[in-house]
Amino acid sequence: MEIQFNDLKAQAKNYEAEIDRAVKDVFSSARFIGGSVVHTLESALSKYTGAEHVICCGCGTDALMISLMALDIGHGDEVITSPFTFIATVGAISLLGAKPVFVDIDEETYNIDASQIEGALTAQTKAIIPISLFGQCADMDTINAIGSKHNIPIIEDGCQSFGARYKENMSCNLSTIGCTSFYPSKPLGCYGDGGAIFTSDDRIAQKIRMLVNHGRNSSDTFTCIGINSRLDAVQAAVLKVKLKYFEEEVSGRRSIGERYTQLLEGAGIVTPTIRTGCESVYSQYSVRVKGRNDVIKRMSDSGVPYAIFYSIPLHLQEAFKNLGHEPGDFPVAETVSREILSLPMSRYLTAAQQDHVVKTVKG
Ligand SMILES: *Cc1c(COP(=O)(O)O)cnc(C)c1O
Repeated sequence: MEIQFNDLKAQAKNYEAEIDRAVKDVFSSARFIGGSVVHTLESALSKYTGAEHVICCGCGTDALMISLMALDIGHGDEVITSPFTFIATVGAISLLGAKPVFVDIDEETYNIDASQIEGALTAQTKAIIPISLFGQCADMDTINAIGSKHNIPIIEDGCQSFGARYKENMSCNLSTIGCTSFYPSKPLGCYGDGGAIFTSDDRIAQKIRMLVNHGRNSSDTFTCIGINSRLDAVQAAVLKVKLKYFEEEVSGRRSIGERYTQLLEGAGIVTPTIRTGCESVYSQYSVRVKGRNDVIKRMSDSGVPYAIFYSIPLHLQEAFKNLGHEPGDFPVAETVSREILSLPMSRYLTAAQQDHVVKTVKG
């Protein structure tokens, strides 16, 4: 039985006719960067999330970096985040010369352990970046309360959680700034790189709008030093079509995630814990297994694709060796990285395919 880890081909086929027309319109318009297609997409994203301002940009990594730049974060500053995330979260902090300060993760959700954040605050802490990992938002109420108490902005890394709910609110509209990625395999993916930044703070929005476009204020004035991180009109055209049907993708993914959890019950496998008030978009359906090597061998032998996010927590990556961490510094992240395993997930996974995955995983 042929199974895709994330069936982007089936998804592309589903929207093909409408996307072909939308992309052709962009080609005929010859307006390839920015323009009305990007603006209408930004309005639609604003309506979907409830964030007052949405600024599209080149990718999720840029969204994070630009958010930090908008808050004037750089040398000498510290940013609190989790060591169990994609490298881009921490790379963005480091590229600006700021210091990533890690806080271990919650053993059940794999998101930052909010109860340990205050212990990591210093006079240099300038932002906190919780990641909404695998599609479930972090403990945003607690994190926002810490932010308010100490006057520290919160940037949600929502690159895996666009479409997720947190107590009636949408991911990316839960804190000072939200960031997402439209990388093809993310919940809302385009056909290349893309990203967006969400905020309801007028001043921050204005600055971000300049930063994504070289710091440009008007056609010939530049008020700050920015970068080139704009969304292509072709990507916006793809996203506009996919956003129209996105709720179907979200509910489809959720049903498949919930079915996995039912089918895997009692098999000695740790299935995702979804907190009360949270609705995951299951960007990954990740389980924890003790004998991971045996399970992945069975999966390879039966042609069932899998992924491991993340096998090495970031505090132990060579890229961050200057931070001076050692094994044992963040024990939960280290244990989870040895046991975590992501199963095939897409709205287009059939029940028969899913049954086959479950049978193989259970062994
Ligand atoms: C994908 C991802 C990013 C980066 O997004 P790109 O669009 O690939 O630059 C950042 N953070 C997390 C948690 C991600 O999963």
